[in-house]
Amino acid sequence: MNPTPRPLPPRSQAALDAFLARLAEHGATLIEPQWLGVDRPHRVRCAQGHDCTPRPKDVATGGGICRACAGQDPRTAESAFRARLAELGATLLEATWLGNKTRHRVRCVQGHDCAVWPSSVDRGRGVCRTCAGSDPKTAEAAFRVRLEEIGATLLEPTWLGNQTSHRVRCAKGHHCTPRPTNVMSGQGICSICAGAWDVLYVVADQWSELVKVGITSGDPRPRLGEHRRQLGLDQVVRLLTGLPDGAAYQLEQTVLVALRDAGVYPVWGKETFYAPRALRRMLDLVDGYRPMSERHPE
Ligand SMILES: [Zn+2]
Ligand SMILES: [Zn+2]
Ligand SMILES: [Zn+2]
Repeated sequence: MNPTPRPLPPRSQAALDAFLARLAEHGATLIEPQWLGVDRPHRVRCAQGHDCTPRPKDVATGGGICRACAGQDPRTAESAFRARLAELGATLLEATWLGNKTRHRVRCVQGHDCAVWPSSVDRGRGVCRTCAGSDPKTAEAAFRVRLEEIGATLLEPTWLGNQTSHRVRCAKGHHCTPRPTNVMSGQGICSICAGAWDVLYVVADQWSELVKVGITSGDPRPRLGEHRRQLGLDQVVRLLTGLPDGAAYQLEQTVLVALRDAGVYPVWGKETFYAPRALRRMLDLVDGYRPMSERHPE
């Protein structure tokens, strides 16, 4: 390094001294003719003769000096891999490091087992395809489980992808063609059933401060009784009956989407919310609802 024309301010001089000491420890040489500050890359030649440009700040906090060496040195590559996994909340399942070019078994933060290349997570990618939503087998399995939950049967002989309609028989025996992506986001599967729902209700419990919006068809009492027994929702805040085709379903979806857009998420299932955050918004929408026939009187 050439002599610096003017003396550096004491803090910069201290940072430069620390940087030089660290380079010396690693057998590296500073090529950069002057100090550029802790945040700027400085040209350096590493012990192996590679030209590299580490930032003093990174070196001071334990970062490597030379990328070429980091990629080759198994210990550096392994510790970079482990650090990246820790960042992602993932756990390495392999007992030993298998090298940068071998897949390693890893458990992601959600508990999925996956196999990843160390070199690919280094480049900023996640570890888990399931979490990334790109694994077709998982998407199909999740769709099947959801259909089973709601008593529906998949008629489509093969999986056609998340965005494609699949033939399904609903719990009431209607043939319908929902798209998995919609079903997984909580929408109904059957437009015939959706049309049959003609009741919308809002029930609450002042002790637990829970509020639930829901829809049903015909006599609402059995459904309301269920909510009272199961969740203690004993206060009927709103009850709209005799709604026209599809209106109950649409109004419920409107409420759910508005809450989600406002950052209010269910605390239980898909429709039960913390009342202090959700009730006002719910009632504004429910009370603002007018059937088409009332909006446009003939
Ligand atoms: Zn090197
Ligand atoms: Zn995962
Ligand atoms: Zn149906």
